[in-house]
Amino acid sequence: MKNSAMLAELLELITTDAASGQETDIAAKLAAKLRALGFTVTSDRAGETFGGACGNLFGVLEGTLPGSLLLSSHMDRVPNGLGIRPVERDGVLYSDGTTILAADDISGVCAILDGLRRVLAAGIALPRLEVVFSVGEEAGLYGAKAADMSWFQSKLGYIFDSPGPVGRFVNAAPGRYQLGAEITGLAAHAGNEPEKGIDAARILCEMLSTLKQGRLDEVTTSNFPILSTGTKVPNVVCDFASFGGEARSRDGGRLRAYVDYFETHCRAVAEKYGAGLKLTVEEAFLPFCIPEEEPVLVMAKAACDSLGISCRIDVGGGGMDANIYNASGMSTVGVATGYTKNHTKSEQLVLEDFYRSGELAAKLIETYAGFCVSE
Ligand SMILES: [Zn+2]
Repeated sequence: MKNSAMLAELLELITTDAASGQETDIAAKLAAKLRALGFTVTSDRAGETFGGACGNLFGVLEGTLPGSLLLSSHMDRVPNGLGIRPVERDGVLYSDGTTILAADDISGVCAILDGLRRVLAAGIALPRLEVVFSVGEEAGLYGAKAADMSWFQSKLGYIFDSPGPVGRFVNAAPGRYQLGAEITGLAAHAGNEPEKGIDAARILCEMLSTLKQGRLDEVTTSNFPILSTGTKVPNVVCDFASFGGEARSRDGGRLRAYVDYFETHCRAVAEKYGAGLKLTVEEAFLPFCIPEEEPVLVMAKAACDSLGISCRIDVGGGGMDANIYNASGMSTVGVATGYTKNHTKSEQLVLEDFYRSGELAAKLIETYAGFCVSE
């Protein structure tokens, strides 16, 4: 059923320009909305860690019940998300085809706000509610990474930032490492004395052609699409070459094992030719997998059941703020709000699912409150 207030707020926020690192305007609007609901709102300096203009927004509403629940989504969007002109056709919202829609993640933001308004209007006893609207998520989970974890009292939470129909929860996501190698060879005249050179380009080729990559097992992949020698002349033996890529896995142990293998492999090849080698190994985020019997998912199922929404729990393909929260010991899962084809100009939002995600947010809070009472 149409929810005009939710739709109006969605359109207001989608048409408020934002980008990773440029969330100041939308943060001001969201801070005002949370304050209007009685929340105490603060922000941190997360933006400074990645050249952004503003920090994460933290809203807290103390409750009368024990316990604390986290609800979160992100304020930024992928590039090509400025000047969005949303168009509704047959109950589905699209952009005009020239930009993304930013339903990822404005629909999540709006679902949380609608859920909060519902439980506050109902006047039910509540636990402490923690709301985080993060910055820089799309650029690399920068906001969540820089968040002060001591601020959180919540042990579990719902991250409204997943594609798919309402009722879909994401309980597992891969971890990711960024990997790179810089090979230093030795220049020599290619015609007069090539044997005195160390050919970095050839070493790069050998390193990559003998490296296990692509689909490594059912949960682990790697990809090395960035190659460079920096050389433009054909008559000098190449003295520098580099390559870069990534590895991801839903299994932290296998991910780490692949990273170790990558390092050993590259070192062995470089050593064979006496080349210099500098490796870059950067942990982007760790994987997570929340078992279905964990309270956060038991409550998700109960909330869906009581709303007559069919609940589906499955694995996501990308990283999200939940990766960071779960790595710090919380139990958080992704919640879908009805969008698909996010990060593209074909992004779309099924409005009926979107409206129901507001009800779902309220029901999740209510279910958690019931859990606090029975504790
Ligand atoms: Zn997102």
